[in-house]
Amino acid sequence: MKCTRCTEPAEVKLRAHNSAFCRECFVFFFQRRVERAITHEKMFSHDERILVAVSGGKDSLALWDALVLQGYDTIGFHLALGIGGYSLRSREKTEKFARDRGLRLEVHALTEDGLAVPDVIASTRRPACSACGTMKRHHFDRAALELGCAALATGHNLDDEAARLFGNVLHWQTEYLARQRPVMQPRHPKFVRKVKPLYLTGEFESATYAFMRGIDYVVEECPNAAGATQLAYKAVLDDLENRFPGTKLAFVREFTERASAAFALPEDRETTARSCEECGMPSFGALCSFCSLRAEVERRQAERAARAGAPAAPA
Ligand code: AMP
Ligand code: ZN
Repeated sequence: MKCTRCTEPAEVKLRAHNSAFCRECFVFFFQRRVERAITHEKMFSHDERILVAVSGGKDSLALWDALVLQGYDTIGFHLALGIGGYSLRSREKTEKFARDRGLRLEVHALTEDGLAVPDVIASTRRPACSACGTMKRHHFDRAALELGCAALATGHNLDDEAARLFGNVLHWQTEYLARQRPVMQPRHPKFVRKVKPLYLTGEFESATYAFMRGIDYVVEECPNAAGATQLAYKAVLDDLENRFPGTKLAFVREFTERASAAFALPEDRETTARSCEECGMPSFGALCSFCSLRAEVERRQAERAARAGAPAAPA
């Protein structure tokens, strides 16, 4: 097998692209694809500062690496979720990546707010991923605003996007379909643009890129993660991809280019006009969803403490 680009012996074969690459050409190919997604979808420019949300996994570290090599002005942001050893290892890998390359990384630890994910789940009984998602969104938005960034980039990859699109189509979740875009423009002056430069890059590609670039990432998945449904969708898509290489790429790319506009919501329905009374970030009601979650955790913890401290009822 020879490299499609330079005819040297190839190290990796990409059936979806009908190509094979040697190490050097694969790194070039990966970076060019990321760059094309950024320019084609007008995600951001070299004059803007980008906040990269880095979890310590292969996708977000590969993305950060590629953006830095292409000369973008980036700051990394890691949210330490407090999910035991998994979160400790994720933070360590992220910090080491930044340290080794002299990159600016901001870390916010939920444990310092008394909001470690396991405590929040235990006291509110909300599904893990929903509580975690609320806290991630809040801190990503807040950090992007505070650090003067024009856009927030996440490492969502083609496999994530295809599985999500598949689920949204199966249930005709038209409002979610309206929001499934590689670029989401801000709906409030305190929000920034949200972009997914890897939306057409498969996880095999980011894992290969990370390996070839010597990036040490967390391999384990979040112990709470991946609902059974999402995994089932991924399995169906993997099966299709095996039989018909390029299926995922066509599914997501054609949706974005041809079908997405049909689900767009009128502007006014997407506007959040109010500010949260607690933190000042945009909100629908008096409190934003993060501050409501925090209030709920505090209320339940106070109730529990009161019960624990109350004198026992007479026998
Ligand atoms: P996930 O929802 O875990 O698949 O993650 C999707 C993307 O969100 C990742 O590629 C990162 O860009 C970002 N992300 C997830 N978890 C964190 C975290 N703890 N800190 C910073 N960014 C994160
Ligand atoms: Zn708030």
